[in-house]
Amino acid sequence: MPVYDYHCAHCKTTFSVRKSISELDSPSACPECASQETQRLISVVAIFSGGGGGERRALAGVSACGGCSAAGSGCASCRPR
Ligand SMILES: [Zn+2]
Repeated sequence: MPVYDYHCAHCKTTFSVRKSISELDSPSACPECASQETQRLISVVAIFSGGGGGERRALAGVSACGGCSAAGSGCASCRPR
């Protein structure tokens, strides 16, 4: 079963959830604060790597949620402080 990373908008925790694809759209509660204000972090390698080199710097702190991945720069809810 794949593991997905989630970011909690409430306490800023990032956590991983193992769930099936059929459960993907159901919210995952934050393990720290039980908030359901969580966003799934998509795999952003292709978006932030510039299309080559396999650089994974996006995972070092820059995250994108499903709502802003097209812009490639992060939105207010997932952009690092
Ligand atoms: Zn939380």
